[in-house]
Amino acid sequence: MFWADTIAIELKKRKLPLEWVDDMKTPSGKIHVGALRGVVVHDLVYKALRDSGVKATYTYIFDDHDPMDGLPVYLPKEYEKYLGLPLFKIPSPEKGYKSYAEYYAKDFEKVFNDIGCFPEISWASQMYLSGKMNGVIKECLDAATKIREIYEDIYKKEVSKTWYPFKICCPKCGKIATTDIDNWNGETVHVICRDLTWTKGCGFEGNLTPFSNKNHFAGKLPWKVEWAAKWKVIGVTVEGAGKDHMSKGGSHDLASLISEKVLAYPVPYPVFYEWFLIGGRKMSTSKGVGVTASEMTEILPPELLRFLMVKTKKEQQINFDPSGETIPSLFDAYQEAAEAYFTKSNSDLARIFELSQVNDIKKPPMVRFSQLAQWVQSPNMHEMIKKEKADEWIPYVKIWLERFAPDEVKFSVLDKSPDVKVKLTEGQIQFLKKILLELEHKWEPEELQQMLFDWAKENNISSKDGFSAIYLSLIGKSYGPKAGWLLLENSTVAKSRFKEIIDISE
Ligand SMILES: [Zn+2]
Repeated sequence: MFWADTIAIELKKRKLPLEWVDDMKTPSGKIHVGALRGVVVHDLVYKALRDSGVKATYTYIFDDHDPMDGLPVYLPKEYEKYLGLPLFKIPSPEKGYKSYAEYYAKDFEKVFNDIGCFPEISWASQMYLSGKMNGVIKECLDAATKIREIYEDIYKKEVSKTWYPFKICCPKCGKIATTDIDNWNGETVHVICRDLTWTKGCGFEGNLTPFSNKNHFAGKLPWKVEWAAKWKVIGVTVEGAGKDHMSKGGSHDLASLISEKVLAYPVPYPVFYEWFLIGGRKMSTSKGVGVTASEMTEILPPELLRFLMVKTKKEQQINFDPSGETIPSLFDAYQEAAEAYFTKSNSDLARIFELSQVNDIKKPPMVRFSQLAQWVQSPNMHEMIKKEKADEWIPYVKIWLERFAPDEVKFSVLDKSPDVKVKLTEGQIQFLKKILLELEHKWEPEELQQMLFDWAKENNISSKDGFSAIYLSLIGKSYGPKAGWLLLENSTVAKSRFKEIIDISE
């Protein structure tokens, strides 16, 4: 059974009136493709719950109130002055967005919408400004001693008795990263704004309320404490994270203890998932290097990108290296899954296909990707592409050829005769003569491919020399795609070209 369905069956037993699935992300810059995995994994649990008849909802929170803690390489130097400020108070690098956070969040949201995930979006800043967080803020500040003990227990190191689980947004310089609290009297906290190694504080000192209202953002809980606080405020019942947060002694362990021991809220069902790497590397959003989620949608159609994440078991790493045969193999696997679905031959694979759909279930083209790669490089193949209803995949085939395909599969049929007569031997010329005669007959590509070996032998040349005569004449290289197909797909060009070469050599 598909893993998300197994989880749904398990969750159904607890008979909650509503299962609330949640995931989150800090939009600190261009969002790396790896962050999509969390969105899809939670989406699959949500859809499996719904399919099993459990009432469920799915929300996604953008933590737009976190501080900017690094300058991505693609941003101008002038953004340095915003280091330490909450992301929602920093201007957008492009016009038309309310903030820096909104700009990058919207870009990411579009990608997950494109691949069929439609969680309800929330903004952490709004949760605070609405006043909904005030209750848990008080609970956490009142329980500062207990929270310090939990930190000490998990991280095995001493926490200062004057440390409090809250970050004030400095009323003077606006930064949230630079403030320290050393006292809480039940109503206000005592704050000092200090220099950090990576950004300066302003020296402000005073007593301030930690509670926000619609006109005033007071500050935030530290994120591991906040993770638990959000579970309680929203009513989350299902939420996991990638393995960096889910390891033993990691953020999830800490949030779980805060949830149970401080907030008396049951820990949501944890959905663990492995990383999504590109070419073996994990990318960081704040450093701004690597493949972003939106770049990935340029190289794969939405249903294929979704399929990549659906078909891989969530505990298994995805290491996607777009070079070589990775992309053609993914398309082949997708067609195989479609076959399983439409012929009802393999229920697990059929379910994977079903859950990979972005909208309604859609039958993919049945012609293989490698075949399409040959067709787009041959003239006059538009009719075949149309006949196979494969137009929608063509842009991705072209991108693959341009950016990732090995040289052996790349060719273009020359529009004029190459100057090859000096390079061809008598045996090769005779071989082309034979092909020219045989092209008058009707052939299946496999059959023709096979015969080429025999005809080479008949003319006392090696099959390598035979094939290179074909390639040199048609595409000007000594290697190329399968010759049987190349000849039939370009038979008009082949016939006139061979004739020309034979005439010249006689
Ligand atoms: Zn300050």
